[in-house]
Amino acid sequence: MKVKAEDYRIHNEMEEVADLVIKEILSEDSSICGCSSCQADMKSLILNRLNPQYYPILNTADERREVSLDLLDSDLFNEVLVETYRAVLKVKDKPRHDGERFYLRNSAEEIALSALNEILQGEKRTFTGNQLSTLMSLVMNNLKPLYTTTFKGSAFTRTAEVDPSYIAEVYSHIFNALKQIDSQD
Ligand SMILES: [Zn+2]
Repeated sequence: MKVKAEDYRIHNEMEEVADLVIKEILSEDSSICGCSSCQADMKSLILNRLNPQYYPILNTADERREVSLDLLDSDLFNEVLVETYRAVLKVKDKPRHDGERFYLRNSAEEIALSALNEILQGEKRTFTGNQLSTLMSLVMNNLKPLYTTTFKGSAFTRTAEVDPSYIAEVYSHIFNALKQIDSQD
C-alpha cells in the first residue's frame, strides 16, 4: 500500500504552546517584531528545540486539543520560555520581515512518510486511518523535529541533505511503531 499525507491526521501540541508563549512575549515587549515572517521564524526555532508532542486525531475525536499554558508542567513551561527568548534574540538579530506568507512545516514528517512507503512497498496489508495516525504520531514523537518556514508550495525537502544516521533512526522508529500497532490488534 502507498500512504499519502491525507491518509492520516496528527498534530504537534507544541505548536499551540509556542504560539501562546510568542503571543505573551509580544504583548509584553513592543520592541519585538510581530510580523508573520518573524513569528513563523520564532515558532520554527522554538519547535526544533522542544520535544514534540504529537497525538493522533482519530475519527471519533474530530479536532485538535485545547491547549492552555496554565496546565503546562512548570519545567516544560520554563523550557518553552527559555527557548522563546532564545528564538526572539535570533530573529531580532536577523529579521526577514518580508511580509510574505510563510508556511511552517516539520520536514521530518515528509522523511518519515517516504521511509514508511519504502518499508511498506510490496506489502499487501492495509491500515485504517486511525492506525496510520497512531503510527505516524509514535514515529514523529521519536524524531528530532526539523521545522522550516518556507513559501507555500515550495519544493519538498531534499532528503539527500539529511544526515544518513537520521534516516537510519527514522527506519528503526517506524519498525518499532509497526510492532506496537500490530500488538494493539
Ligand atoms: Zn518582522
